[in-house]
Amino acid sequence: MKLFIQTLGCAMNERDSAHMIAELQEKKQYTLTDNAKDADLILINTCSVREKPEKKLFSEIGQFAKEKKPGAKIGICGCTASHLGEEIIKKAPSVDFVLGARNVSKITEVLERPKAVEVDIDYDDSTYVFASSQDMGIKAHLNISIGCDKKCSYCIVPFTRGKEISIPTDLLVNEAKKLVANGVKELLLLGQNVNHYGVRFSTPHKKTNFTELLATLSEIDGLYRIRFTSPHPLHMDDGFLEEFARNPKIAKGIHIPLQSGSSQILKMMKRGYDKQWYLDRIAKLKSLLPNVGIGTDIIVGFPTESEQDFEDTMEVLSIVEFDTLYSFVYSPRPHTSAYNYDKSMLVPQEMAKERLSRLQNLHKQILQKKAQKEIGSIYEVLIENHRDDEGQTWSEGRSSQNKLIKILGRKCSIGSIIQVKVTHNDGGGLYGEFVRELSLEQALQANVYIKCINGSD
Ligand code: SF4
Repeated sequence: MKLFIQTLGCAMNERDSAHMIAELQEKKQYTLTDNAKDADLILINTCSVREKPEKKLFSEIGQFAKEKKPGAKIGICGCTASHLGEEIIKKAPSVDFVLGARNVSKITEVLERPKAVEVDIDYDDSTYVFASSQDMGIKAHLNISIGCDKKCSYCIVPFTRGKEISIPTDLLVNEAKKLVANGVKELLLLGQNVNHYGVRFSTPHKKTNFTELLATLSEIDGLYRIRFTSPHPLHMDDGFLEEFARNPKIAKGIHIPLQSGSSQILKMMKRGYDKQWYLDRIAKLKSLLPNVGIGTDIIVGFPTESEQDFEDTMEVLSIVEFDTLYSFVYSPRPHTSAYNYDKSMLVPQEMAKERLSRLQNLHKQILQKKAQKEIGSIYEVLIENHRDDEGQTWSEGRSSQNKLIKILGRKCSIGSIIQVKVTHNDGGGLYGEFVRELSLEQALQANVYIKCINGSD
């Protein structure tokens, strides 16, 4: 039996797809195919954070229904499945089942029930032990919580993934150890509100928090780096920032969603912090780690956003000098409180797009300015990819700060840790020369050495 799976949206969806693949491989002996026409089961793992992919879903279902081989099943999973439920089968009768984002552990069960719809957002997937580990090479995702208790006024996630429940620490440690034993060097911890870990478990559990979880996971022998996404600025207390800076296994690149630089808009977004709080957290982080890499998300054109509100966002961009930026024009989503705002509060699309382009241009200028300072810097790169054929030899990987760096003329083995000196930047990425290969132990000690060379300590 062959399985074709299309995954849209965020890392959480990728992880959910990995769970479903593992279940289907182990319990139903499916093998993966990248050709939908060959598949016995076609899964679309959907995203509903923005309006466009949701609109495209029905035309995609129609296309798959036309192409699929006789008897093949189509299943719709993920956030749009939670959001639209049985409406999907009513609108597209070729769909065999609908499985919500909070119900992925039921994949082998719904497969056997014609026209099944499982979208219960109170379902507890948090203590479910999934089938054998994902095969992700040297990097793997690990879900540490499901759902979200926040009520950001633009976000549909609490409606599609339900209230927040943390996965017990011992399950996480066991899964992490299994992954490391299979060759994983870098873990990406996932949660909609990842640093809110430990607030609620569905079974009795000792009191714990995200900072303690990081410390526990970092004790696993053989693990090199831990990343996580997405933390909420509100839960970044000093204890967390100090552990982040101190612990050599925690990668020194962090994504801190800003959403807006205007305190008034942040209040309307129900984010729980203001511009000053955000800048204060960044200042504390940079005082501990001057060379930290910071990424963010920004929504432009939220209802009532004035030119002054937008200028506040531009100001935060200039102060923080983010290394990565995911920026979007506001997209109204059903079941969110902002969806009910009066039409007169909406920012005209043309104005929002023009602001988005100003924001992205400023970010480009910031990156160009920062790129000049990179020349001569030394980074520790975990090699993820290499090539040595047709006259091309190179290796590439990411630094602790999450910068993609390519080493030309050298094939380093995947999973090796290489010290690299940056030699140039072509606007699209950094290039460097091989300095030396490090063992895991050397690499964990070498953090200090690298900070000294870069003049940041
Ligand atoms: S923290 Fe806010 S933006 Fe993030 S998933 Fe929860 S409700 Fe959505």
